[in-house]
Amino acid sequence: MTQAGNEGYLLAAGGRLLQGEDGSFVFGAAVLGQSGRDDVEARYPLGSIADGTLLVLAADSALVASLEGAPLRTLLASATSELEYVRLSRAAQLAVWHEQHRFCGRCGGPLAQHDRDLAKQCAPCGLSQYPRISPCIIVLVTRGDRCLLAHAPHYPAGRYSTLAGFIEAGETAEAAVAREIREEVGIEVGRVRYFRSQSWPFPHALMLGFFAEYEAGELTPDGIEILDARWFSRDELPDLPPSFAISAMLIDAWRRGEAG
Ligand SMILES: [Zn+2]
Repeated sequence: MTQAGNEGYLLAAGGRLLQGEDGSFVFGAAVLGQSGRDDVEARYPLGSIADGTLLVLAADSALVASLEGAPLRTLLASATSELEYVRLSRAAQLAVWHEQHRFCGRCGGPLAQHDRDLAKQCAPCGLSQYPRISPCIIVLVTRGDRCLLAHAPHYPAGRYSTLAGFIEAGETAEAAVAREIREEVGIEVGRVRYFRSQSWPFPHALMLGFFAEYEAGELTPDGIEILDARWFSRDELPDLPPSFAISAMLIDAWRRGEAG
């Protein structure tokens, strides 16, 4: 993976990160020489939590035509450190946000980059828009020496993972854990414990990871979000999510006996 210092640029257009022919996705300052100034729609610093700057390019610029859209899952899977993951996750989320928030939700005026904050602002009415973040819960339910994993319609065949869902307005994360599990597989849980969080750029989730323990009920997949759900022991685990995902971290912590 290409390394970059503070001068590195990540490029995006049309809500996607871009990569060069050699697969690199971090570019030196020279890349700007290939692009007219008018081609740069916005510059977002990644600097508060990661290195570099995201340049959002106009979709019809010549530079964009010479690059390819980078598959985000592949990029994230190739990240060799937490910092690289964070940089990619942040850049990808800003690229999508820039693409999807072009006009003010209150008055319909055009949004322009905020002059101080990592935000956009509406000139006519002054409303500020910050990058959207959607909090979600993700939970590994345990029952004795087994854990609950489920198969969702969009997973590859044979893949099982933890349960997850968006937190609703007014709801606590703990209440969302209990509700999502009840809705998706029909069981009740207790002893909900926080594990850790992960920014998940598909497209703008903040995953809050939890462990919970089975209390009552029969596994009944809802047939919509969950097609199958089963209890697995440590030595008979199915195909699991990629290691960079918090779901894999939850399963791994439980496997090592660190689920508390
Ligand atoms: Zn406005």
